[in-house]
Amino acid sequence: MPRTRPAAFPQSAAAATADATLRANLTHATRTIRGKRAAAVAELADWDRLRAAGAAIKDDTLRHLDHYLEQLEAAVTAAGGHVHWAVDAAEANAIVTRLVRETGADEVVKVKSMATQEIGLTEALAEAGIRAYETDLAELIVQLGEDLPSHILVPAIHKNRGEIRDIFRDRMADWGRPAPAGLGDRPAELAEAARLHLREKFLDARVAVSGANFMVAETGTMVVLESEGNGRMCLTLPETLISVVGIEKLVPSWRDLEVFLQLLPRSSTAERMNPYTSTWTGPAEGDGPRDFHLVLLDNGRTDTLSDQVGRQALRCIRCSACLNVCPVYERAGGHAYGSAYPGPIGAILTPQLRGTASALDASLPYASTLCGACYEVCPVAIDIPEVLVHLRTRVAEGGTYTVRGTKAVIKPAKGHAAERAAMRAARWTMDHPRVYGAALRATTGTRRLHPRRLPGPGKAWSATRDLPPVPKESFRAWWQRTRGAGS
Ligand code: SF4
Repeated sequence: MPRTRPAAFPQSAAAATADATLRANLTHATRTIRGKRAAAVAELADWDRLRAAGAAIKDDTLRHLDHYLEQLEAAVTAAGGHVHWAVDAAEANAIVTRLVRETGADEVVKVKSMATQEIGLTEALAEAGIRAYETDLAELIVQLGEDLPSHILVPAIHKNRGEIRDIFRDRMADWGRPAPAGLGDRPAELAEAARLHLREKFLDARVAVSGANFMVAETGTMVVLESEGNGRMCLTLPETLISVVGIEKLVPSWRDLEVFLQLLPRSSTAERMNPYTSTWTGPAEGDGPRDFHLVLLDNGRTDTLSDQVGRQALRCIRCSACLNVCPVYERAGGHAYGSAYPGPIGAILTPQLRGTASALDASLPYASTLCGACYEVCPVAIDIPEVLVHLRTRVAEGGTYTVRGTKAVIKPAKGHAAERAAMRAARWTMDHPRVYGAALRATTGTRRLHPRRLPGPGKAWSATRDLPPVPKESFRAWWQRTRGAGS
């Protein structure tokens, strides 16, 4: 699979914006989804109060996360489940691999899960000789196409119907039941091909791997929301169920859950009520899996929680509304973010979970125009622009941060060091009138020679901007001419 990580967001985005088909697919899909979401949200007169309630519940839960996690662990254990704690991706992958091996299975079916994408579980299982089958339709398209997801909710948003038909026709046979002969590109035909292909996987699977949208601390209940019914099949048919869930997915009680069951469907799929909401509390005799394991994943969340501004990113319920309104995402697509989390939420979550030491992660907080549309639609009121600016400061100034429990020194970004040096030079120049006057004359002369595009380091800056015309006379010259040199 093409799992190479892009060097930095601008380079990847430049390649994506040059792809006319990709841009057309993204524009069509995001505009359709955001229109439907706006209509679904407008139906509720108390949406703003629901949104405030969602934010308040999440903040309170995060504030007392240690208490609720221990309450959850006790409840899951009392219900007959097994709780495992994973500090990072490697530990989570090792736990899941061991659990699958203990069942004797070499295949698992997967419910769509951002946490397992974040830790690269499918690849880790493959290295251990265990094949993981994606069962969500869009994830299936991505897996068969040896592609990467590009959207939280619609991972194959960058593909159109014709491309999906070709993937099914060319690749399904390599993974099981082939596509029906003469497969067309009508949505009903494509869905039927996926249904037939996946049905065999559901019936054969002995182990399923899922995430969870929410965990209810008071009863130890897992909650998965989905639209296709594939999740329900995975959560009920296999003998063993392993759920990998980020520690921030907690809600204290069922009463709190009710708020999110209103916020999430309208914000994500624009539905009034979620089509398939599965809940389970440990294994149940004669009904569903006989063995249940919960892997609680940290992987940078505790570090994020320690940042007073950045921690609001942990409120996220992965609805993807912020992606669908983002002008940068609409043009660049999801792959440019180089992470399981694309779009505005990816731009603030990934640099906190992974740190900002790499060129890619340091570039993500800049993948935004700061227009604020993401904040407006976020159902849990995450002030994404505020966190973006906060992270930009971290990138620009560097300093000591905790990354995965270890203190790390982040160097100030190179470009920003040069910018700061330029600002210091400008300040010194402006403090010395003679030097400033000479600099002004030199700059004006240079601009006259290059009226449309700056030379040297300024070339890149002026390549995408219209420079203002050079005035005949500078303000200082005008002042001296009209008011006299001494005034
Ligand atoms: S940041 Fe808000 S809008 Fe974006 S995915 Fe998360 S909850 Fe949805």
